[in-house]
Amino acid sequence: MVTIQEALRIIQDQKISLKSELKPLEEALGFALETETIAPFDVPEFDNSAMDGYALCGLFQEYQLVGEVAAGDSKEIELKDGEAVRIFTGAKVPEKATAVMMQEKTSVKESTLYLDEMPRVGQNIRKKGGQLTEGQTVFEKGHLLNPPSLSLMGSLGLEALEVISKPKINIITTGNELVKPGQPKTVGQIYESNSFAISGALQQFGFQYHQKTQIKDDFDATKVGIKRALESCDVLIISGGISVGDYDFVKQSLEENGVNELFYKVFQKPGKPLYFGRKENQFVFALPGNPASSLTCFYVYVLPLLHRLSGYEKNGLTTYQFPIKHPFKNTFGRPSFLKAAVIDGNVEILDGQGSSMIRSMAKGNALAFVDDGETLNDGDMVRCKLIS
Ligand code: AMP
Ligand code: MG
Repeated sequence: MVTIQEALRIIQDQKISLKSELKPLEEALGFALETETIAPFDVPEFDNSAMDGYALCGLFQEYQLVGEVAAGDSKEIELKDGEAVRIFTGAKVPEKATAVMMQEKTSVKESTLYLDEMPRVGQNIRKKGGQLTEGQTVFEKGHLLNPPSLSLMGSLGLEALEVISKPKINIITTGNELVKPGQPKTVGQIYESNSFAISGALQQFGFQYHQKTQIKDDFDATKVGIKRALESCDVLIISGGISVGDYDFVKQSLEENGVNELFYKVFQKPGKPLYFGRKENQFVFALPGNPASSLTCFYVYVLPLLHRLSGYEKNGLTTYQFPIKHPFKNTFGRPSFLKAAVIDGNVEILDGQGSSMIRSMAKGNALAFVDDGETLNDGDMVRCKLIS
């Protein structure tokens, strides 16, 4: 048995090798950059107008209107002192322009422009290179591509990016009692639901599974199922069959498939029978079958490794601190990840903390960490991971 910190350290310390691929910009969201990006040109590439209005030459209150530049126009208008042109947001500002006045602060009579106020030098002109200059680092290697990153990369004219590949993930669920939703079941059977939590959590963080298999509680079936799954994945996530019951065959099947145990059992609640192992460059998590245990272990242990394998700098969910809304003592006898709701900046520990109870987890939005025996009074700070 290891502590939570030891388990997380073991995962974090794994030597990994990353792969990369070229992704069209459209599909690059959530990937980490494989290389540093250098600006191929200044952004913006030319001085342009931040407003719909008038580009002015010299500082006056009246100007002669001599033309118009719209966004996309490439014509160059030679302005002289006291002249102005109609201009629109994003349009190239004439070289001699001193400022742009927004149209709301102007009036026009015939071809004379009157300003409501004196312009200032450079007003409403977005300068060439104001955001990036040619040759400057846009993003470091490992930068996680979020929507604004994609916008910036697009503005640099890049149509595809070299990114770190995401791990290929397979899921195995185990249990004789499990029936696929939609199928008839008999007394004693239950519907298989963990795989939906796992695949949902994968999707929530931009991952998807490659293969999902359901296996009976039978040693040979488990061994063969694991062997097959390991043929096509970087990370195998198994649900159930990892406890100490007579029908728990996962641990031995992993051993017989050449998977080396890195830890088994974590001093925590829920999710004590968590297993983590490795076979060369493949990783295996065997999550306890109880629905809340399985999903909690995913968020706390699996996600950080998936992030690392995707080349992210920051791995796993961030821990935030929130004041608790009510007194609470952890009498579970182990450090606990508790189903909780963070509302308006305060955290409430929810009823229904049993490992099988998923409803409280579904209604909440956080996992609150409370140490073994820790007593919290109103307003005490609690460490929380936000899960939705
Ligand atoms: P196990 O870890 O296999 O001993 O399972 C512990 C508990 O979780 C048992 O009550 C199982 O019926 C339940 N369980 C295991 N796997 C699943 C699953 N995929 N979906 C729903 N419940 C499960
Ligand atoms: Mg089972």
